[in-house]
Amino acid sequence: DLRAGVIAVQGNVSEHAAAIKRAAFENGFSVIVEQIRQAGVVPNCDLLLLPGGESTTISRLLKREGIDAEIKQHVAAGKPILATCAGLIVSSSDAKDDRVTTLDILDVTVDRNAFGRQKDSFEAPLSIDGIDDPETPFPAVFIRAPLIDAIGDDVSVLAWWDENPVAVRQGPVLATSFHPELTPDDRLHRLAFFAEEIITDSPVHPETDV
Ligand code: GLN
Repeated sequence: DLRAGVIAVQGNVSEHAAAIKRAAFENGFSVIVEQIRQAGVVPNCDLLLLPGGESTTISRLLKREGIDAEIKQHVAAGKPILATCAGLIVSSSDAKDDRVTTLDILDVTVDRNAFGRQKDSFEAPLSIDGIDDPETPFPAVFIRAPLIDAIGDDVSVLAWWDENPVAVRQGPVLATSFHPELTPDDRLHRLAFFAEEIITDSPVHPETDV
């Protein structure tokens, strides 16, 4: 089994747990989902999800529990993580807000709640690079979404909305300013974890496959 960790200090935890189970199943994997609230679990995970919610709270709790360093090590080891909305803010290199200590695993700067100032929440049909059935738009739900206002050279943009990047990838890190876990469409979760270069082979816990 693959071991998926959903960072569960705050935010949209159960939706991501359900989405990764569906996405794994469709790719022929079974997955054990761990909800992570303390240090010591991340090192055993093959893949991570960092949900949306409230970024100042998530950032504070990750630091307090010592989960922040473990997430950075996970990424440094090349293991995949999907960060959504507040998760993107926390992953960024700069959220321009003293209350958010960012993980700096994704070379972007963000403006918290920038989309939200225009419109609290909305749904948009996106075209996303790399997803299955690319002709079918992805229903992206934006809720007080962060605006990515600068991206580093190593970051590729997978989707745009209104001339702004809304899905980006840097190596094992895939981040969205919207909430792919809130719709039944799991193509984004599949892209984050099961595209060619990610998890296609046997899981890293062969000893549990008895
Ligand atoms: N605006 C929120 C924040 O700054 C993020 C919103 C979300 O995750 N839906 O934390």
